[in-house]
Amino acid sequence: MVNVAATVWSNAERDPQRMAVRSGRGDLTYGELREASARVGGAVAAAGLRPGDRVVLIAPSIVEFPVLYLGLHAVGVSVITMNTMATAAEIGYVLDDAEASLVLAWHECDAAASAAAAERGTTFWRVEDGARFDADPLPAAHDHAPDDTAIILYTSGTTGRPKGVELTAANLIDTTDSFLPVLNLTAEDRFGTGLPLFHVYGQAVVMNTVLVTGASLSLLAPFEPTAMLEMVRRDRLTVLAGVPTMWNAMLHAATDAFGPSDFEQLRLATSGGASLPVEVMRAFRDRFGCTILEGYGLTESTGAATFNDINRPQKAGTVGPALPGTAIEVRDPLGAVVGPDVVGEVFLKGPTIMKGYRNRPDATAADLQDGWLKTGDLGRLDAEGYLSIVDRAKDLIIRGGYNVYPREVEEVLYEHPDVVEVAVVGVPDAHFGEEVAAVVALREGAELTGEELRSWAKVQLSAYKVPRLYQFVTTLPKGATGKILKREIDRDAIRTAEVG
Ligand code: AMP
Repeated sequence: MVNVAATVWSNAERDPQRMAVRSGRGDLTYGELREASARVGGAVAAAGLRPGDRVVLIAPSIVEFPVLYLGLHAVGVSVITMNTMATAAEIGYVLDDAEASLVLAWHECDAAASAAAAERGTTFWRVEDGARFDADPLPAAHDHAPDDTAIILYTSGTTGRPKGVELTAANLIDTTDSFLPVLNLTAEDRFGTGLPLFHVYGQAVVMNTVLVTGASLSLLAPFEPTAMLEMVRRDRLTVLAGVPTMWNAMLHAATDAFGPSDFEQLRLATSGGASLPVEVMRAFRDRFGCTILEGYGLTESTGAATFNDINRPQKAGTVGPALPGTAIEVRDPLGAVVGPDVVGEVFLKGPTIMKGYRNRPDATAADLQDGWLKTGDLGRLDAEGYLSIVDRAKDLIIRGGYNVYPREVEEVLYEHPDVVEVAVVGVPDAHFGEEVAAVVALREGAELTGEELRSWAKVQLSAYKVPRLYQFVTTLPKGATGKILKREIDRDAIRTAEVG
């Protein structure tokens, strides 16, 4: 049985009253989730869709999301989830590229989707509150072959138009199977997240794993730190998943209105998507009494590749060892595998690696060689197999011939108590080729100059790594998951900013 919907439905057979999904708007038990998603599946099958057809789903992270998602999986179609903020042009591009035959969009964010669908004559369904479909429930979920494409997620990568990452039914099950033991997740856990479910992390790593385990999943959309803390308190959450900017925002939002008893049941947080500053992890443990386990993955690896395992010694600052079945190689620019503690490009092989980019044989051949996925990330393995991500290869700054890894500099700046968010980037410089610049968001009310931050950084960093340019902003540009988007930082604006 290789279908995530079939596994979740079997939980409903065992214990239909068990809580499955919660949000501020309403809750669903496993029995209700099965019933509602089987009706979605029934309606989609009655409309003539067959296994392998492509369907686009656009909905926020609310209880109806898993209802629609599992209903589509049950039919066996390839599910394409998209950002609720996608424009008509972006949706149109995906409809054409994927040759999708149906679009389901949540009524509060359906304008762009309905326009894109109308332009092409693609069938469009507007989903109302409750996602109640008037159809006979699908009696059983489609039995996928392991290599069937279960989901297609569009990512822009570094260049060019978005590419559709094809992930198989087996990829989804393998991600869940490998993530679950890392956390010792059980059906008794109450999991909470503010991650968007259309992205691989919230969807394939978190939502699927939690629902396959039979635990409950509390959703928050969109993420807001005080609302997240209130959800932890309201649902007595035991495990959280997020990205580093969320942990930091929660730390800054945790006023005296939240006491230790609000967090006593919290046993774990899992972090991924971007590097977790060690300082944030320490502060989180001090304030909320639980550790953050960091992992690493990409859309192309179904979100999973490495994780600091709760059953093994945790190494702060690393993204942990490879998940079971996954192999890691660190290679030099000529392709030779390097030894322990040497920085090179990270390559991954294993059961969670994508089938390929949809209809892009050249891009697939460039990024997948003999089953090895070229990640574009620079990292190093220690002698015990723990991986550290040094940076994205493309974020590396080369100043006067010296390599500066922005992440190392960001770690130092994050240690300053007034710094809430920071991104270190290279800006063109006539003399050095590139100059190191820091874009910084400060704690409310804090007054800090570039000169003061520069003195702070100098104590810990070699002179060539210390940012010369500082720009103060109220917030940094972020992607759908909350990841800071360096490519959206205006480097010309920094050049004219304060020089520390
Ligand atoms: P996405 O495909 O949107 O999930 O983005 C994948 C990219 O996120 C990876 O190639 C990494 O550059 C970055 N990433 C994910 N997890 C981590 C992590 N723990 N530390 C540093 N970078 C990460």
